[in-house]
Amino acid sequence: MRHSVRKIGLLILMVIVLPVVIFSVYEIGNLRQNEKIIQDIYRNQLDAILFSINQYSDDIISNLAGRIENSLNEYKSGNEPELSRLITEVPSVKGLILFDKNLGYLSSIPASYEDSAILAEIITGLGGHEKTLGRLQTYLRGGYRKMEIIGNTRAGIQWIVFLTQVEEQEVINVLILDPEEFVGQALDPKIQEIAKGKFYITAYHAGEDLPFYVSNKQYKSGKVSEKRPFWLLNDYLMGIELKDLTITDLARDRSKRNLLLVGLMDIILLFGAWLIFRNIARQVELTQLKNDFISSVSHEIRTPLALITMYIETLEMERVTDANKIREYYAVLLNETTRLSGMVNRILSFSQIEGKKRKYFFSDTRLNEIVENTLLTFRYTLENKGFVYSFEPDSNLPVISADREAVTDALVNLVDNAIKYSDGNKSIVVRTGSYDNYVYVEVEDQGIGISKTDQKHIFDKFYRVTEKNLANKVKGSGLGLAIVKHIMDAHKGTIYVKSTPGFGSLFRLLFPMK
Ligand code: ADP
Repeated sequence: MRHSVRKIGLLILMVIVLPVVIFSVYEIGNLRQNEKIIQDIYRNQLDAILFSINQYSDDIISNLAGRIENSLNEYKSGNEPELSRLITEVPSVKGLILFDKNLGYLSSIPASYEDSAILAEIITGLGGHEKTLGRLQTYLRGGYRKMEIIGNTRAGIQWIVFLTQVEEQEVINVLILDPEEFVGQALDPKIQEIAKGKFYITAYHAGEDLPFYVSNKQYKSGKVSEKRPFWLLNDYLMGIELKDLTITDLARDRSKRNLLLVGLMDIILLFGAWLIFRNIARQVELTQLKNDFISSVSHEIRTPLALITMYIETLEMERVTDANKIREYYAVLLNETTRLSGMVNRILSFSQIEGKKRKYFFSDTRLNEIVENTLLTFRYTLENKGFVYSFEPDSNLPVISADREAVTDALVNLVDNAIKYSDGNKSIVVRTGSYDNYVYVEVEDQGIGISKTDQKHIFDKFYRVTEKNLANKVKGSGLGLAIVKHIMDAHKGTIYVKSTPGFGSLFRLLFPMK
């Protein structure tokens, strides 16, 4: 039986547990990958947003450069008022200085730049960037305007250089820009439109963790993980993060939830597999018990039948003449037929119970009477087997409502067991009494007793304790106590067992009072 249970266990392991484990490992691997994919998608999206802000700031300056070029061409020498109006339109632009292509100073807005230290600085700066200026020239000749940041930027000031074509002359324009103001004022409306309360968009000076600009006042520092440089502003970065949950939080949350789900599914499936295994193992065990039952019952029936046949043949041939011997033969015959009919009755009783066909007829019943009658039928067996037995009735026992035949059956089973499972100390006491709201009858023996573990199973059908020698030798069906349990259930009663291996057992049947 162990072998077949192990085989079933292995099968379940292979068919259910193994696929579950493989699937889970695969799923967990997938989750990790998914988490990365989600993060990449979000990151790309955020990248695109930052790209659009850069694009927008490029547009602002390009547009300004275009209008400066137009104004230079239109107003020629008297262009200062118009240029001054143009640059004040973009709040962060502090000034504009114009040079010819040989870096000769032409003019500046406001005029105060003409002899400022800034002018000298810019000229030195531009001088070191001939290549960049050459590139800007090539672009301009190709009909395309590009902007560059040139020179070492002063704290809080940025020089944006672009070329314009004024009649035949190429003019170098240097826009003096306050980057923080540019972000905070020129870009802010666009940033607000993009952020729309869903994102935090921030701007930093390179190397600093605290932003000088945030799109939303509720921003908590340290949350932003995605940062990209501003195209137009040297050493400045902009950052973006989802407002409520960061990308990482979001992906992690999702993964965690899915992981939990996979875990839960695994537990349910494994629990299911365990249940299936347990059920099958039980069925296998039951089949084994049934097989034992059949062989045991066949033996139980065959032995008395052989004895009966032998004795009847001997009597029929009239070989025995001694009257005492004849009486003894009859006694054996009676004993064996009683045993046989007891066995058959038990099997019938059990099959009735199993088929749910057993009917109970309740009537007022005196337990003491049933005990007396039962002990009377057992008298011969008890005396013959050398038992000391007594009945200690409670004379004030209330009448109960019970099926007399069924209660007798139950009691017969208990006394029969007490006889079967006693060897050395052959003593049986039957008592009646009342306890709480119950009326009881109990059978106590000094027999081999039952271990705590076996006590849990003795009421299961076909269950027999086989470890002890006596229990092994004594024939039985494993049905007796299952029948007793069924009878007690039908009476809404209970059974109490107290037993110590080697010291005996006490079985008490408790019937509810009327
Ligand atoms: P059976 O006696 O036919 O084996 P039962 O259902 O009557 O079946 O009993 C189940 C098992 O419980 C027995 O095999 C026996 O091992 C144990 N048992 C029952 N009554 C006693 C008892 N009075 N003393 C010791 N063991 C008992």
